[in-house]
Amino acid sequence: MELDIIKKEDPEVAKYIELELERQKNTIELIASENFTSKAVMAACGSVLTNKYAEGKPYKRFYNGCQNVDKIEELGVRRCCELFGCDHANLQPHSGAQANMAVFLYALNIGDTVMGMDLSNGGHLTHGSPVNFSGINYNIVSYGVNEEGVIDYDNVEKLALANKPKLIIAGASNYSRIIDFEKFSNIAKKVNAYLMVDIAHIAALVATGVHPSPVPYADFVTTTTHKTLRGPRGGIIMCKKEHAQGIDKAVFPGIQGGPLEHIIAAKAIALKEAMSSEFKQYAKQVVENSAYLASELINNGVDIVGGKSENHVMTLDLRKLGKTGKDVANLLEEVGITANKNTVPNDPQSPFVTSGVRIGTAATTTRGMKKEEMKEIASIIADAIFEKDSIENLKNRSYQLCKKFPLYEDM
Ligand SMILES: *Cc1c(COP(=O)(O)O)cnc(C)c1O
Repeated sequence: MELDIIKKEDPEVAKYIELELERQKNTIELIASENFTSKAVMAACGSVLTNKYAEGKPYKRFYNGCQNVDKIEELGVRRCCELFGCDHANLQPHSGAQANMAVFLYALNIGDTVMGMDLSNGGHLTHGSPVNFSGINYNIVSYGVNEEGVIDYDNVEKLALANKPKLIIAGASNYSRIIDFEKFSNIAKKVNAYLMVDIAHIAALVATGVHPSPVPYADFVTTTTHKTLRGPRGGIIMCKKEHAQGIDKAVFPGIQGGPLEHIIAAKAIALKEAMSSEFKQYAKQVVENSAYLASELINNGVDIVGGKSENHVMTLDLRKLGKTGKDVANLLEEVGITANKNTVPNDPQSPFVTSGVRIGTAATTTRGMKKEEMKEIASIIADAIFEKDSIENLKNRSYQLCKKFPLYEDM
């Protein structure tokens, strides 16, 4: 097995990979952006394809010996177009951030106006945060959510009319409602802006029809492949035909050198897996689990931003409890649950402290957990927050759940 090979070569690194495997097996993963890939996906990531340089596009490479990686990348692109119904796909972006950066490079000039969702309201760094390339190089106008955690579409339109952005970005890292892509598209058309939709978080829901698709509405659809989509770490750009050449050029040579063909192979495998009826069932279960987990948390006295989840993610709103996101996320780690602190709308706390904790159901659902387990997870979280059970007992309850739904059994 791979770990034995690493152990022989480098026991120091092997030790921590082994410990990480144990951590993943024995704790409840509620980080909304994480998942557990198949062993086939991981095997492709560790394959000989990592040795190959393949700058350029399939059949138009700057290196020789690309006949096999050409076939793999072509297959991946074809699967992506079939799964999402898009005209064109580029599987080379090393990450979601790179996918977005390439769209910016293609669609904009430095200093152009871009509208995106504010980071503290659920948007992503690459949607215009002042510390990110997007906020540094472009004129950013941010929109947000109301107290119910819902995008204020009227305000988006008002801001668009007033600021005439060249690009409008829809999509988020922490938004628990269905996004109305048609509304975004109508607003973009009114001001003659490009529409980019970033489905990094909801890719699996879009792929399976559990969430409406932005593909018919958007000029560009970007995604990560490692969140709900359950593939390797990486990014994809989908776009309309007329943008295909420009987008490909923006990725390479625009912002990247050689593509990671081992990761592209793993993306192709994940895309095949995502076409299966099992995966469709998985995506449905993710959403059911999320809605139920939200309602159970509320029943246990823990507020959820907006009072419900319509996708895979929600934010615990700790303001009324007088607790911070930082403290509760650390407390959850102590009881065997991994999550991350996150701001709530109009958060009185700093981004390092916050009044919220973001949780999601993508990873636990991959383990096979359903409503009954969501009930227990909600109960563990509430019992931890309200100190109704000892840390030791809570940790054991988390561990028992993990034992019941084993992960990577023969690893
Ligand atoms: C995660 C995420 C990204 C960035 O993905 P990385 O692979 O971490 O670079 C971009 N956009 C959104 C909305 C995300 O949630």
